[in-house]
Amino acid sequence: MEFRSFMQQALDEARAAGARGEVPVGAVVVSPAGVVVASAGNRTRELNDPTAHAEVLALRAACAQAGSERLPGHDLYVTLEPCPMCASAISQARIARLYYGASDPKSGGVAQGPRVFSHPQCHHTPEVYDGIAGGAAEALLKEFFAQRR
Ligand SMILES: [Zn+2]
Repeated sequence: MEFRSFMQQALDEARAAGARGEVPVGAVVVSPAGVVVASAGNRTRELNDPTAHAEVLALRAACAQAGSERLPGHDLYVTLEPCPMCASAISQARIARLYYGASDPKSGGVAQGPRVFSHPQCHHTPEVYDGIAGGAAEALLKEFFAQRR
């Protein structure tokens, strides 16, 4: 199958999150057949829920739809490097491939900080592809935080 990036859709979710006053991060879950089964942006403020990151919301929706706590063979696209909580959730969900945009030196948990997937206690490690449309994702975040100052 030809590689098709779903990062543009994740960026759309990130933009929508920013417009709601949330940190602009978006995520998309894609089935093994290449179909988008869930997409979400951050909703921590709206839901008063510190766990309502884009990745967690997208995984919850995809799992609910699949009627399963696991999503083998599924891919997850997210505009920003997942934090340790989301990286752990991605592992628990058995996501096959993780594509992310901007790296997150402050809160990332994949390529820096806790490096969740590198731990022996991490029972499932997805293939990781970083820097997918990273410039666009980073620009969104910079713009968002510049407006808040
Ligand atoms: Zn997170």
